[in-house]
Amino acid sequence: MSALSVLLPAPVADAAHDAAHETAARFRQGAYSVSCPKCHVPAGSLCLARRAVHTARRDLYRQNPQTHGLVPLLVGRSR
Ligand SMILES: [Zn+2]
Repeated sequence: MSALSVLLPAPVADAAHDAAHETAARFRQGAYSVSCPKCHVPAGSLCLARRAVHTARRDLYRQNPQTHGLVPLLVGRSR
């Protein structure tokens, strides 16, 4: 359950969550700037898990020196 669902009715929060991920994927921001090693989608595509970015993809993004400078909005700084 996302933090948004505390503030918004579930269908609205779902739509907002989807929109945020679709926008990030379209512009290849954060973890979407690399392909996913788990579900093998290319950069710029949503993970097949849909509601989540695979951990391996986030790790790959953080390890990739070419992505420095992009806005890491969807990548947590720590776990
Ligand atoms: Zn994935």
